[in-house]
Amino acid sequence: MMKTNEIRSKFLEYFENKSHKIVSSASLIPEKDPTLMFTSAGMVQFKDFFAAKSTDNLPYTRAVSSQKCLRAGGKDSDLENVGRTPRHHTYFEMLGNFSFGDYFKEEAIKWSYEFIVKKLKIDADRLWASVYKDDDEAFEIWEKYLPEERIVRLGEKDNYWGPPGETGPCGPCSELHYDLGKDMGCGKEDCKPGCDCDRFLEIWNLVFTQFHMDREGNLTLLEKKNIDTGMGLERIASVLQGVTNNYYIDIFRELIEDAEKILNVKYKKKNEEHFHIIADHVRAITFAISDGVIPSNDGRGYVIRRILRRALRQAKILGFSKPFLYKLSQTVVKQFKHVYPKLKEAQQHTQNLIKMEEESFLKTLGKGLDILEGKISDINEKNKKEIDGETAFKLYDTYGFPLELTIEIAQEKGIKVDKKGFEKEMEKQRKRGKESWKGSKEDKRYNYLFENKIPETKFLGYDKNEAKAKLLYVKERESNLEMIFDRSPFYGEAGGQIGDKGKIYSEDFEFSVNDTQKVNNIIVHIGNVQKGDFSIEKTYSLKVDKKRRKAIARNHTATHLLHKVLKEILGEHVNQSGSLVADDRLRFDFTHFAKVKNEELLDIERRINEKIIENLKVSTEKKDIKKAKKEGATALFSERYDKEVRVVSTENFSKELCGGTHVSYTGEIGFFKITDESSLAAGVRRIEAVTGMGAFEKIKKYDNILIQLNLLFKSETKDLVEKAKKILEENKNKQKQIEKLKMKKATNSVKELLENKINVNGIEIVKDHVDLEDANVIRELAQKVKDRAKNNTAIVLIGSSSNKSIGIVMLTDDLTENYHAGKIANRIANKLNGGGGGRPDMAQFGGSRTDNIDEIIENLNNFID
Ligand SMILES: [Zn+2]
Ligand SMILES: [Zn+2]
Repeated sequence: MMKTNEIRSKFLEYFENKSHKIVSSASLIPEKDPTLMFTSAGMVQFKDFFAAKSTDNLPYTRAVSSQKCLRAGGKDSDLENVGRTPRHHTYFEMLGNFSFGDYFKEEAIKWSYEFIVKKLKIDADRLWASVYKDDDEAFEIWEKYLPEERIVRLGEKDNYWGPPGETGPCGPCSELHYDLGKDMGCGKEDCKPGCDCDRFLEIWNLVFTQFHMDREGNLTLLEKKNIDTGMGLERIASVLQGVTNNYYIDIFRELIEDAEKILNVKYKKKNEEHFHIIADHVRAITFAISDGVIPSNDGRGYVIRRILRRALRQAKILGFSKPFLYKLSQTVVKQFKHVYPKLKEAQQHTQNLIKMEEESFLKTLGKGLDILEGKISDINEKNKKEIDGETAFKLYDTYGFPLELTIEIAQEKGIKVDKKGFEKEMEKQRKRGKESWKGSKEDKRYNYLFENKIPETKFLGYDKNEAKAKLLYVKERESNLEMIFDRSPFYGEAGGQIGDKGKIYSEDFEFSVNDTQKVNNIIVHIGNVQKGDFSIEKTYSLKVDKKRRKAIARNHTATHLLHKVLKEILGEHVNQSGSLVADDRLRFDFTHFAKVKNEELLDIERRINEKIIENLKVSTEKKDIKKAKKEGATALFSERYDKEVRVVSTENFSKELCGGTHVSYTGEIGFFKITDESSLAAGVRRIEAVTGMGAFEKIKKYDNILIQLNLLFKSETKDLVEKAKKILEENKNKQKQIEKLKMKKATNSVKELLENKINVNGIEIVKDHVDLEDANVIRELAQKVKDRAKNNTAIVLIGSSSNKSIGIVMLTDDLTENYHAGKIANRIANKLNGGGGGRPDMAQFGGSRTDNIDEIIENLNNFID
């Protein structure tokens, strides 16, 4: 039996021998085509190769790959079918060979036949080919390998590709089909490829891109013709392994066996559907997350969340309701890490993320299912046939049930879901969200703008620091005034960038602007009158504090560099979740699941400063949003953009949708220094940094600290660390000595301790608040007391240092029958805000309180019983 892994390597090797370059799989997140949700075919990463007008600048003209593919979430997604049929998958691998203006039909057909028959040794008699109805050329080539009656002509639907848009490249296809045998078919006389039944399995699709279609539908022959082929690995494996279902092949068997062990449920014909869904889905989420997708409530993240939740529900049906996919994902890593090394690199991250996601869903899954099942039986009783939109929405909103999951569960019971009703509820919530925002305090503050119908302010600040403008409105607020003009060079706080300061003046009037806000495109200048009087409709000079604006611009451009560099160094999963761009610092919040390591921080700093020194030109242009995204501009998930957007690029390094003000060249940033890295929330980190003179001041401060330390330690900078280490070491030794001396002193007090013992309920209790802080030393002392006391004695000694208490409970052996030192220790620890425990005869405890030790000692009888 030929293993799946073997088929993949045979394929790559075969085409490598035909001078193809082996190109490793692209990420599931399409890098070159942001319009695609996931990479769904081998050709996606070669789009530029296909589009090239000539072969002159191509690094190679023949390629072969095994591509990770994910098909889910698009319009024509059939997630509900996955696992229920023998051939549907979300995640699968696609084998493909490609020619970019190199070989064409002759070789493509010949090699496909040769590979299938000679390399894979598939029975040639079972092989059929289909060609496009008008493609005589392909038909004739096939005749060299197959008898005429096993070559079928099919129409556009089956055997024609493209163009992808209204115009563009297109061409006929040819497919190889495998005859599964009469038993699998409909039995009709003319059953052949193209028939509706399951007899003929399509195994390989060859696309011959030979035409260009124009707007009128005219076809012209391309000068550079391309070949694009695709063969599903799991499917061809099912043929070679002689099984009737893709999920029966070796790699799925292994995965299902591990699932059986984890779920402790036997895989049987009766429950195989659930296992198949789990096996498919765990592959999809493991590969997607290791490629940087993070489960979330929109876009790719939502698709992955849905898939994960669907898999969890299958386990629930099998009677298992704990997180398990994170464990099973390790089998996927093990199976494929040699082909897709990213799996191994991201292993920990993937596992953590899956587990977190599982835990959060399982918390609500049970409750949600109860509600849904209650509703379903209710519906059955009342003989209705539909779950109302309100319930579906509640399940979505409160219990995290994707609508599709509710539909699927309902469908199993023959019940529909009111999708329109669901949409209505969704819309209502959106409105509620907006209203609550409108009614908020912050916004009411500016109600006067709308009440007085003040027009939008024309913003001039992208290329001007100073301008003349007409005063339209003035609002008095506490000790401030708010002035609004018809136009302004002042930047109003938006997109994380703080507002400008500056002044507004005329010959006999001066107003200082302390803050600028932007409210629905109206720029509000907030400040105080310095001298004179103003009048509405009069023209004034508006002058932004240039130096401060420049400092803000440095930080803003640096933020863009930081965003890009974080993606480079930490991975594509990094996304901005918030930012602050001020004149004296910048702050950047982003998704990432671990602390950013020190070495990574150094790399980030270094890389950004490299880009500063390269002095990249910063340019801005207005663009249609679709076009901008297509060109790979980073957009923030949380932002809503207009149709026309402003794109800020630093040469070909970073590209972001942004309305802020920037420097003209990165060199103006001067220097970039990270000042802090911290955790903001689960999965969100924060980096703070300074630039320009701010960075210089920071370094100077650090230098100053060094100088002071050198003075204190009587050292030079290069020896400082060694010197500090040495002093710490000395200190530790001294501490030990002190403890020793204290111990000596304490030993002398054994007699005294014993003399001060008290008797409670017939037991002798030796107790003291001792002047010791090392648990070992305290224990030694207690042991000495015990040795001396011999029997019927409980010893409790508590020591303390400035911020913690530490103590020992020791019982003579005769007492352990009725008392337990560990339990006593625990009780005392509770009072100390700490913990404790141990054996029946000896236990240790400690805590963060030290103020009540004497009180505890005084009332020890309360703890011993
Ligand atoms: Zn048929
Ligand atoms: Zn920006």
